Amino acid sequence: MDALVGNSPTNPIDLIIIGGGINGAGIAADAAGRGLKVLICEQQDFASATSSASSKLIHGGLRYLEHYEFRLVKEALQEREVLLKIAPHLVKPMRFVLPHQPHLRPAWMIRTGLFLYDHLGKRESLEASRGVRFDEDSALDEKIKQGFEYADCWVDDARLVISNIISAYQHGADIRNRTSFVEAFRENGYWKVVLRNELTQKLTTHYCNGIVNAAGPWVANVLQNNIHTQSPYKIRLIKGSHIVVPKLHEGSEAYILQNNDQRIVFVIPYLNDFSLIGTTDVEYQGDPRQVKISATEVDYLINIINSHFKQHISEADIVYSYAGVRPLCDDESNDPSAITRDYTLTLSNQDNKAPLLSVFGGKITTYRKLAEAALAKLTPYITNMGEPWTQNTPLPGGDLTEGISGLQKQLQQNFPWLEEKMINRYVSSYGSRCMLFLNGIQGPEMMGPYFGAGLYGCEVDYLVEHEWVNHIDDILWRRTKTGIMINRKQFNHLSYYLEKWHQI
Ligand SMILES: Cc1cc2nc3c(=O)[nH]c(=O)nc-3n(C[C@H](O)[C@H](O)[C@H](O)COP(=O)(O)OP(=O)(O)OC[C@H]3O[C@@H](n4cnc5c(N)ncnc54)[C@H](O)[C@@H]3O)c2cc1C
Repeated sequence: MDALVGNSPTNPIDLIIIGGGINGAGIAADAAGRGLKVLICEQQDFASATSSASSKLIHGGLRYLEHYEFRLVKEALQEREVLLKIAPHLVKPMRFVLPHQPHLRPAWMIRTGLFLYDHLGKRESLEASRGVRFDEDSALDEKIKQGFEYADCWVDDARLVISNIISAYQHGADIRNRTSFVEAFRENGYWKVVLRNELTQKLTTHYCNGIVNAAGPWVANVLQNNIHTQSPYKIRLIKGSHIVVPKLHEGSEAYILQNNDQRIVFVIPYLNDFSLIGTTDVEYQGDPRQVKISATEVDYLINIINSHFKQHISEADIVYSYAGVRPLCDDESNDPSAITRDYTLTLSNQDNKAPLLSVFGGKITTYRKLAEAALAKLTPYITNMGEPWTQNTPLPGGDLTEGISGLQKQLQQNFPWLEEKMINRYVSSYGSRCMLFLNGIQGPEMMGPYFGAGLYGCEVDYLVEHEWVNHIDDILWRRTKTGIMINRKQFNHLSYYLEKWHQI
């Protein structure tokens, strides 16, 4: 975007978007692609809050059927097929095995739920559900003899966010990582907005037609403290935590386990060698940045594994854990797991000008539809907004005419020294964009310094230059998920390398 745009009320930006989680990133990409002048600001790193702490599923949410969330489930089921097409590198189909526990939910109820799940949304590539029997080779405890199997998808959540940010950038958006939204006032039909660069502490003033508040868990705080207005809804912060252990079973399927409290817990194959186990639902009152798994949640997750799997685990097996807060729109439900997972968009204006749209709730799965709904609400206020376009256009890196396997083959041929698991990681993290750092490399000696876990200098350089990386955690936990496999010495090596980068 032209540097002068937004510097004066006579040449305003169309939209300033607060928050670089999946919802802010999705709205930024959609709006920029419709020809709007967009600025997105994220106070920390893109996807550093809820959008990297999810269970990483693109799913209809079988459980939500019990709470009659048919609208949400239908939209989410349909989005699975859309996201498989536009981001085939980041989203992959996964089978989910549901052991039957007759004392918790009768078989007829599960069959009815799965029938709805199979038919509520359009299913093109994903297979239908079916009943399954477990034999002695099953990873499950031998008392579990039968169950069900159905399809959903897995996603690299943080990379889905960064893909949308890249898309916004490619369409001309002004991308501001580590930039806080400080304050905004309506002035003569425009917004006057103050931002702070958190690296330099420099304040800048911008003018825009409209503001989108996609601050996730902070949405109500931003309204009250930064825009000095009442929040139309209360937000309920519901903590969810995950643990990662060495893998509990071979095979690419995930498990969905029913607990005695009527909740469910997923066991998902993770990063080749691990199982990701979660999640919990705990009311949370503190600072969303400081959220951590508690000892009670650890016990809860361990107990459900030990009552379902042959292999038992203890706290000593946990190699990593993380927690996040769901920013749910408060529907005054007593049970944290029953609060609606659907999203609500609110809009205010002044004399039909200077709109302020706020996002309450929302799933990763439905971010694209949420963005379309947000822009539909803003259409009357912004001239020259283009038509919806994101449903059939691949996200950056997702333009794979020969599919995932075509790109894998191409890399095997062109870079025969690359290990298979590195090729797989490049393909499933960057899609076709991995060529941006592999092009021209003719041997391992040209890959740059090695930091462990398959991370080389050429990839790190690409991330700093093209994916707004400032901090080592941005690389280890969000742009890649190699943090889990890197030792202290390798961490220090990478840290030193990045310091040198930032001195240039
Ligand atoms: C445990 C758990 C499991 C989940 N599992 C799934 C799942 O499997 N599938 C699924 O579809 N959904 C899942 N979800 C839901 C999903 O993760 C969230 O709904 C989604 O990530 C919310 O995205 P967001 O962009 O609204 O919020 P966030 O990702 O939290 O982004 C908001 C951003 O706003 C920024 N911000 C705040 N204030 C300011 C400011 N003043 N200036 C600039 N920036 C600011 C924050 O730093 C933050 O990065 C899960 C959620 C949790 C907690």
